[in-house]
Amino acid sequence: MRPFRQFLLKLHSRCNLACDYCYVYRHADQSWRTRPRVMSEAVISAAARRIAEHVHAWHLDAVTIVLHGGEPLLAGVGTVRKVTGAVHAAVGPAAKVTFAIQTNGLLLDEAMLDALLDLDIRVGISLDGGRAEHDRHRNFASGAGSFDAVAAALNRLRHDRYRSLYSGLLCTVDVRNDPIDVYESLLAFEPPALDLLLPHGNWTNPPPRRAPGDPGTPYGDWLVTVFDRWYDAPDHRTNIRLFTAIISLLLNRASGYEAAGLDPVDYITVETDGSLEQSDVLKTVAEGAAATGLSVFRNSFDEALQHPGVQARQQGLAALSADCRACRIVRVCGGGHYAHRFRAPDDFANPTVYCPDQKRLIGHIRERVSADLRRAAERPPTAPARSPA
Ligand code: SF4
Repeated sequence: MRPFRQFLLKLHSRCNLACDYCYVYRHADQSWRTRPRVMSEAVISAAARRIAEHVHAWHLDAVTIVLHGGEPLLAGVGTVRKVTGAVHAAVGPAAKVTFAIQTNGLLLDEAMLDALLDLDIRVGISLDGGRAEHDRHRNFASGAGSFDAVAAALNRLRHDRYRSLYSGLLCTVDVRNDPIDVYESLLAFEPPALDLLLPHGNWTNPPPRRAPGDPGTPYGDWLVTVFDRWYDAPDHRTNIRLFTAIISLLLNRASGYEAAGLDPVDYITVETDGSLEQSDVLKTVAEGAAATGLSVFRNSFDEALQHPGVQARQQGLAALSADCRACRIVRVCGGGHYAHRFRAPDDFANPTVYCPDQKRLIGHIRERVSADLRRAAERPPTAPARSPA
């Protein structure tokens, strides 16, 4: 059993966008309808006390608090300040507490940025590419696209005064978009890190353009094109976390990234009403699939560690399907995202629905890295290193 080191606090349960792929509002679980809109002071205080309790019980020297939603900034600066104040007061000097926020950026004006700077909260923004790619999905309820507003927020965030807060971009892949156009559009915003996420889906409710069991590799091919562009660039202008995690795992090192490898899950979600939930992405699977039945008011995070769903995601290889356990790249792939393994009614002992794509991407990266390692080992000591394209 491993302790939680990341705590996702749902500050606000609603959003000011109506993205068509949103896992909170557009998938199987509709529990957001019954939740309070904003996390109350009572929930914030109880969550802070539970985090401190967990820090002390496990002698943790560092934890990360991720402010999440819905759209967390809808909760307002006052709520954000209450959270940071409550957690710092409860944890004290026992552990370093890092705060981060994942936002759509729409409320990121200078007053908000000044507050985030004051509170030392790192900012990740969701952006799916240039205007055309982003506005395919990430629209207001009116149907109008949000790209211009997000781009303006990113330009404010990249200003010298706030740049230290900028943690990166999160992009959900749509294989209809040209991968190089998307990559270059994202790079234009100089993200320190880039997360390329596969759209959520599973064997019962498949992701877009991914037929379960089909040997085609539309997502693998898309990611391979981006990988080659990134890997062959003269300088790495961003860290694409999926790719660096796969390279790290191929070199037998830790991944530190949920989407790759067999690292046990180390995060838990606190909803606006204080309920403890597993990965939010399980909301794509079935109504209540992310629920634990626990609450910060009644239960410790140690009790959440005992929950069968959490334990299953801490067991690594032992929790995987027979196909995955026998797979030669399992230590790199890790069986794919837990939610993507689901088959109704309650079966997670499957390879990810993206299995052929995983094999395509990991196989390609292995070939590229192995070829470079061979060349490096065979190079005479005086020969120059590989000159990237
Ligand atoms: S999901 Fe597919 S590629 Fe990944 S470990 Fe399982 S069988 Fe192997």
